[in-house]
Order: sequence, then structure tokens, then C-alpha cells
Amino acid sequence: MINFNVPPYVENAMTYIGECVKNQKICGDGSYTKKCNEWIEERTGTAKCLLTTSCTHATEMAALLADIKPGDEVIMPAYTFVSTADAFVLRGAVPVFVDIRPDTMNIDETLIEAAITEKTKAIVPVHYAGVSCEMDVIMDIARRHHLIVIEDAAQGIMSTYKGKALGTIGDYGCFSFHETKNYSMGEGGALLIQDPAHIEAAEIIREKGTNRSKFFRGQVDKYTWVNFGSSYLPSDMNAAYLYAQLEKAEEINEARLACYNRYYENLKELADKGLIELPVVPEGCVHNAHMFFVKAKDIEERTALISYIKENGVMAVFHYIPLHTAPAGLKFGRFHGEDKYTTKESERLLRLPMYYGLTLEQVDKISGLVKSFYA
Ligand SMILES: *Cc1c(COP(=O)(O)O)cnc(C)c1O
Repeated sequence: MINFNVPPYVENAMTYIGECVKNQKICGDGSYTKKCNEWIEERTGTAKCLLTTSCTHATEMAALLADIKPGDEVIMPAYTFVSTADAFVLRGAVPVFVDIRPDTMNIDETLIEAAITEKTKAIVPVHYAGVSCEMDVIMDIARRHHLIVIEDAAQGIMSTYKGKALGTIGDYGCFSFHETKNYSMGEGGALLIQDPAHIEAAEIIREKGTNRSKFFRGQVDKYTWVNFGSSYLPSDMNAAYLYAQLEKAEEINEARLACYNRYYENLKELADKGLIELPVVPEGCVHNAHMFFVKAKDIEERTALISYIKENGVMAVFHYIPLHTAPAGLKFGRFHGEDKYTTKESERLLRLPMYYGLTLEQVDKISGLVKSFYA
């Protein structure tokens, strides 16, 4: 059986977690958390990275920092994970869903401006599959309308747009280190902050509304409750698990890209014959092989393809029931304009196995099954 996902693991994880346990340094903001933050800051060029308990929580922090209030509107795609919307719904805001582009499955940047009202406060581009949204256009719209941009870069670590790391182009960026992502700490994430003026407020929100981060740096002689907040910092043991992978980030990235490229070469002839569609990476975007997907003709064909490859020992999955059609989406949000592609394209898309440790032989086997299905 070839699983759809296997969480990333590298040997040093055991050593580093063992150190945390032995030294009895297991709470948040220990040395591994610092190492992860610094690694991400150096790699992405962000002003500040704060490791969090999840990408969902990083997005919640961004919503608090952006001062999202009840009745505010936040523009985002409906083809995304629930957390993209949840973080804003928790603040009483209304997610306003805009259609996606069929090529990248990202928000259609040409439809954003028409969805803006006087209540619009933020735009949340989601970089699907680690392939960037059209950020120049989105940032231009945001600047002209004075909107905050929060990048859902859950899938986007190691990817770039015109040379800039995803998560560092908007005001805030959110990474996920869930076990299904390229780098993992079980459950975890990170908030990337571009304006140094927002760092202190973020540290306070992350530490239960206290100025404990300043206290640890010796900038105040005792810490106290200074604002609202929550607990968004992970255990240093989780950070230790992640740090072991960040040390091998390049190797993990290359292994994933090799699988992606092999899938692409293997399946190109089916795409050339018009039987399936393959992912598109626009000019200027460097991606991280977060995912490899194919698009079948329609939902019936996709269901048959899933069953066929499952009977042959390969697990493939689809995801994202578009949020505007889900019970909570109907209750909390609204779709602006026509759903021309969101539902249609989501019903055709199938994700093939992709993880660190997947071999090229396995990729050949999986591709062979897709080909024999269409033969
Ligand atoms: C995985 C994912 C999230 C949520 O990440 P968690 O770390 O599990 O909270 C949010 N948005 C997108 C697009 C994701 O893929």
C-alpha cells in the first residue's frame, strides 16, 4: 500500500527532542523555538517570525493584529481549508468568497476589486499547492484601497514569487507545520510579520496578553498583563522535531521536487492527449512541490479513478468542499460574483501521494496506474 501522506521525519529529531526532555526544557520559547524562528527569518527575509501552535492560530493572531471587528469583510477564495475563514469568523467578520483561476486554483486576482465594499478590511490570498497568487496585482489593489493583506502560506514555505518568499509579501504571512505539510512539528505553524512596528503587539497576543517576551529579553524587570491575548506558543519539543527538518530543508525540498517532476514527465502524454490536466506554475513563481494533482474530466471520472488506484494499493485523495457551499460558509459568508470555476474545478482535482521518502519507483508505479486507467 502506498499512503497518500507520511509525516516527514529525519534522524536528528530524536536527538533534539531527547535533549529537551533530558534538560527539562519543554515549555515554549526554548532554544529550538528560537532556532526555528531565526532559520525562517534568515531564509525568508521576514522582519520577524513567531512559531505558533498551528497555522490556524497564526491566522487568528493576524486577524487580531489587523484589528478585525464584527461586520468587517475579508476577501478570500472559497477553495481553501476552513481555517482561512475561521480565523476571521471568530472575530465576527464576514468572509467574502471570490472565484478561483482554473490554472493555479488560486484566487482570481482580476475579480477582487469588484468585491470590495466600504466594509472590506483585508484580503487573504491562499497560495494553493505552494504556487503563488498574483501578488503584484493583489498588493496594488490592497495599497489603493488601504486593505491589509494576510497571506495563507500554509503550503508555501520554500516557495517564492518574483524572488520573494511567500508569507513575506503581504503584511502578515502564515505557515503550517501540520504533519501533512512539507515540514512538520505534528501540529504547529508560524506567523511572519513584515512591519517591525507590529512585532511587540504580536508577542503580547501570543503570550496571553503579557509582556513576558520583553521580560525574557531583560527589557523589563517583571512581566504583567498588558493587553488581550491567548496562548499561541508551542512546546519546545515540537520545535525540536521541526528544527531537525529545517536543517535539511534543501534536501527535503529537492526530494519532493524530483517526485513532482517525475509525475509531470510520466503523465504529460495523457495531458497532451487532453485526457487529464496537470498543475500550472506561472512565470515568476518557484514552487516547493507541496502537492501533485491531476484533474479528471468530472467528478464521476475522478471517483472512478480514486477507486481504481485504491484497488491497486495507492491512496489518493481530494479536498476542500468549497467553503461557500458548506453549512458554516452559508451561515457566515457570502460568494461575490459567479462561481464559475470554484466548484467545477474542485470536483475534478485529485491529489496523488507526495511526501518526503516517496521513491521515484513508487511515483512510476502510481503514474502507471493513472495511465492504465485512461488506456
Ligand atoms: C493546512 C492548512 C491550514 C491549516 O494549518 P494548521 O497548521 O493545521 O492549522 C490553513 N490553510 C491552508 C491552505 C492549509 O493547507
